[in-house]
Amino acid sequence: MSRPLIARIDLQALHHNVSLVRACAPGAKLLAVIKANAYGHGMLRIAHALDVEGFAILTLDEALCLRKEGFTCPILMLEGVFSADEWPVLDKGKISAVVHTFEQIVWLEQAVLKSPVDVFLKLNTGMNRLGFDAGKIREAHGRLQGCPNVASITMMTHFSQADEEAGIGKQMNCFRQMTKAFHYPESLANSAAILRHPATHRDWVRAGIMLYGASPIDGMSAQSLGLRPVMTLESALIGVQEVKKGQMVGYGNEWIASGKKRIGVVACGYADGYPRHAPSGTPVLVAGCRVPLVGRVSMDMLAVDITEVPHAQPGSRVILWGEGLPVEEVAASSGTICYELLSALMPRVKTI
Ligand SMILES: *Cc1c(COP(=O)(O)O)cnc(C)c1O
Repeated sequence: MSRPLIARIDLQALHHNVSLVRACAPGAKLLAVIKANAYGHGMLRIAHALDVEGFAILTLDEALCLRKEGFTCPILMLEGVFSADEWPVLDKGKISAVVHTFEQIVWLEQAVLKSPVDVFLKLNTGMNRLGFDAGKIREAHGRLQGCPNVASITMMTHFSQADEEAGIGKQMNCFRQMTKAFHYPESLANSAAILRHPATHRDWVRAGIMLYGASPIDGMSAQSLGLRPVMTLESALIGVQEVKKGQMVGYGNEWIASGKKRIGVVACGYADGYPRHAPSGTPVLVAGCRVPLVGRVSMDMLAVDITEVPHAQPGSRVILWGEGLPVEEVAASSGTICYELLSALMPRVKTI
């Protein structure tokens, strides 16, 4: 038997979540966001399992990898090109790109392409990360419109708090103002906006986290939104210790037994992507029972208190997150978000 840690990918759950996107945003085309190795789920496996109108990724390498696999649908580079020499490669692969700086426009104007490319013109409507401000949109648009290397333009923006009550009102007003002189296809919605703000759906929705069945909305569970987790990170107990009151577990005296305890040792550590900062008390499922993590997470192992689960023994099944234990709970306990935990899954974890 090999090391028992595996990430199990449930493609039925993936299909269920795609149906939910379709039901939320009827008529909109779906760009499946599969950056960061499909949020840790395996880019190609997820791409092959999806039936969508397009993919969104980060790098040209990812886009070319998808083309090599035979995908012919639109593929969007979410931050566009990073250097001038990427435009001709993009052109060869028929890949679309976000344009968010004048440098990218200059490179495009000067590029020698076989055929023009589809661009998504990114507007900064208040997130102040990428995109053109209201004062620059006319020039950016004019340059693209006049550029023979441009086949089509789609207007795009990204929301900074689509998941919060404050919402998207200000950014939507800004977007309307900035685009009112134009008639182009539009793409605004991430997962939170798909679920919460129908007015943002428009032509292309960009679904990331919700495809994988995790909640994009703070304080709302994936289950309550109708989502099903795609990844279950599971392992097994590889050892059991009996400790007496006052004895400690793991590095650094972090946790000291308050009485006689049974401790289970799980084959999963921070070098697998489990958060090292998960404190004692973070929930773990052992043999179907919810038990607390104890002591510090090590590189390859972590410990749990199985005193209340007498039938747990070496070999007992452990779930770190997924089916029966939402990744959001582990994230909240560790002071982070589900996006970080999923996308930080390490390549050494076997994915099946
Ligand atoms: C990552 C990303 C998304 C997907 O966001 P989710 O919250 O995971 O749905 C959408 N749009 C852009 C520009 C992104 O970078």
